[in-house]
Amino acid sequence: MISLRNVSKTYRTGAEEVSVLRGVSLEIADGEMVAIMGPSGSGKSTLMNLIGLLDRPTSGKLSLAGTEVSLAMSDRVLARLRAETIGFVFQSFQLLPRSSALANVLTPAQYHPRPGSKERAVQLLERLGLGKRLHHLPAELSGGEKQRVAIARALFNDPKLILADEPTGNLDSRSGSGVLDVLSELHNEGKTVVVITHDQAVADRCQRTIHLKDGELV
Ligand code: ADP
Ligand code: MG
Repeated sequence: MISLRNVSKTYRTGAEEVSVLRGVSLEIADGEMVAIMGPSGSGKSTLMNLIGLLDRPTSGKLSLAGTEVSLAMSDRVLARLRAETIGFVFQSFQLLPRSSALANVLTPAQYHPRPGSKERAVQLLERLGLGKRLHHLPAELSGGEKQRVAIARALFNDPKLILADEPTGNLDSRSGSGVLDVLSELHNEGKTVVVITHDQAVADRCQRTIHLKDGELV
């Protein structure tokens, strides 16, 4: 599903160059559930942004779902591959504050409305135990509920890969455990799940852990 060969990422701020990822090579197979762990600042989010096609490597090769991502690919092509392949879940939920749970789950359909979109969004929310929260605003939901809305949104396009960056970082342990139950269930259904975390309890729920330190795998 994911292959990185000697991938590096360097940020340039003014005259300074910061090397954030240094020669990272890794393979994640279809259907795996993998944790990426490392201390704060080790490059976890940078790695997620590269895997998630939100950013491009400075050097090295990356392929996703059988497509080699070349530097020559346009933003449009990348955005399309991203939308078809990946569902994102973030620590801070990233919900639209003025939109209902249902409208948030429908955001991936915003520019390509299709018949049945609304029914699909309702089904996803019901599946995540939010059938009675369809018209709530994010501010009217608990943290765990917000994250389940975000997961429903991530599932809208039926992605093969779920990329979650500290999905339990803003949740108490009980809600966090509920979110991990959902991610494990998706893994059991055959999705590839990559969870970025600095919490060992989260990593313990994954099949394999990749450790990152100072921009390198250890
Ligand atoms: P983590 O998610 O493991 O905490 P990040 O990938 O967010 O780490 O950041 C790793 C390092 O890269 C940090 O030192 C951070 O300051 C730096 N960094 C991240 N994004 C940028 C950016 N856009 N420009 C410059 N430096 C950045
Ligand atoms: Mg981070």
